[in-house]
Amino acid sequence: MVMPVRSSTLEEPIKEVKILKNYINGEWISSKSEVSVDVINPALMKVIGRVPRSNAEDVEMAVKAAQEAFPRWRRTTPLARSRYLFRLKAVLEENFEEISRIGTVEHGKTIDESRGETRRGIEQVEVATGIPSLMMGYNLEDISSGIDEYMIRQPLGVFACIAPFNFPWMVPLWFIPYAIATGNTYILKPSSETPLSMTKLYELMDEVGFPPGVVNMVHGGREVVSAILKHPDIKGVSFVGSTPVGRDVVYKEGAAQGKRIQAQCGAKNYFIVMPDAVIDPTVSSIMTSFFGNTGQRCLSGANLVVVGEDNEFYNRLVQKIKRTAERIRIGYGLDESVQMGPLRSPDKKEKVLGYIDTGLEEGAKLTLDGREYEIVGDYPDDCYLGASIFEEVTKEMVIAKDEIFGPVMSIMKVKDLEEAINMINECPFGNSAMLFTSSGKLARKFQYETDAGNIGINIGIVAPMAFFPFSGMKDSFFGDLHGQGRDAIEFFTEQKVVIVRWF
Ligand code: NAD
Repeated sequence: MVMPVRSSTLEEPIKEVKILKNYINGEWISSKSEVSVDVINPALMKVIGRVPRSNAEDVEMAVKAAQEAFPRWRRTTPLARSRYLFRLKAVLEENFEEISRIGTVEHGKTIDESRGETRRGIEQVEVATGIPSLMMGYNLEDISSGIDEYMIRQPLGVFACIAPFNFPWMVPLWFIPYAIATGNTYILKPSSETPLSMTKLYELMDEVGFPPGVVNMVHGGREVVSAILKHPDIKGVSFVGSTPVGRDVVYKEGAAQGKRIQAQCGAKNYFIVMPDAVIDPTVSSIMTSFFGNTGQRCLSGANLVVVGEDNEFYNRLVQKIKRTAERIRIGYGLDESVQMGPLRSPDKKEKVLGYIDTGLEEGAKLTLDGREYEIVGDYPDDCYLGASIFEEVTKEMVIAKDEIFGPVMSIMKVKDLEEAINMINECPFGNSAMLFTSSGKLARKFQYETDAGNIGINIGIVAPMAFFPFSGMKDSFFGDLHGQGRDAIEFFTEQKVVIVRWF
């Protein structure tokens, strides 16, 4: 394996501002639409690309290419398909640092956060190389005298992915490797806010030499989504993004067209701390959970719930969190010393500022004001924001209910674990929930009774590994089969049952 080379320079990985092209049938093609919008590096407020607002005609071309490539690709043996993925894995390792730097400049996250994201994406490719075993069916002899029965898995045809802005590299890779490993062909619509990471991926897939039409990419926004959902030849869609779009647009419209849909959506994650928690590792988990990725993770901690009436414990914990949070180094993510980058765009910062105002109007106590901060370096201040902490928050407040998607912590107190679990179960979202404790008994109760898809016991960010499903419940997930793991194999294959008798 080629070990990634780390570079600590501030040099931009994007040298030239270009109008991005779609990748269809193995070629880079200009969109049929003449409209394009700027892609901005939020740390510098500098234009780093222009993304086309592709239309239904572009989607039609991609579907045609993917349809035509399908019969041959499904007949390519699983072992041969997995060899393409082995080659892809090798070129991803060779380009590890550049991929990570592109992630930082288009999103704003720190370079180390980007490296973690790049690694997580590559792991999906690694797992999907096991497709000859993963895709096996099963059989039973003599279901009746002299009759055998078996189940085989087959690909369905063309699948598509609609991706969010916050993990521009990792999220599409939750799906693409499994879809193509199982013999389907693919169309990706990256987020139009962060389309450069995927442009890099497709350049690398082009280098690997996948047969034309197996992997396609169409940039754009709603027009592309609408064309994907309406197209009769797209068999299934993987969506990751906000709940209103996932539930009301993708799940409803896609399912009405008879498509397979998996829609991983928004979140409001609870982080519960028992009085027997070990303070130092709990505080460091809290810092990454609430403020990592500038709070723009579907698994970010949002509500911190301290259990019990021990004021001394509460004060020690919260003081430590505040002291650490006010020292976070805020700045340009390519600077290795920076711990928190900017929010993705000025309007996202405005939205978070709006929630801080709301929290104050609701009577919560802002004991760390993220509106006062210093930036390391001389950069335009359109997207930066410090960490905020609200205390005396109640579960009825808007700041305790809405997904803020920024570096804002709401602290609440409850009398016991029962009350904390009830709070989580009343919350419409169910993406993740974390418990910090030294008690195995309470941990088991939490795991057993809590309605959230991903549970952390003394773990702050519960991101499932590639060989487990990325779960989610309630308003955080719509569909039946999740991304990653065995669920991915099920989602991308049809089960066919064969019963055989020979005379
Ligand atoms: P978003 O819903 O705004 O956009 C997601 C995708 O949908 C984008 O490709 C976008 O172009 C498209 N889109 C947006 N509005 C649309 C509309 N009205 N009609 C059709 N298509 C539309 O989400 P985002 O802001 O890019 O991402 C952040 C959200 O994603 C957060 O809510 C976060 O919790 C969620 N998320 C969830 C997971 C998970 O696994 N559950 C993972 C990452 C992000």
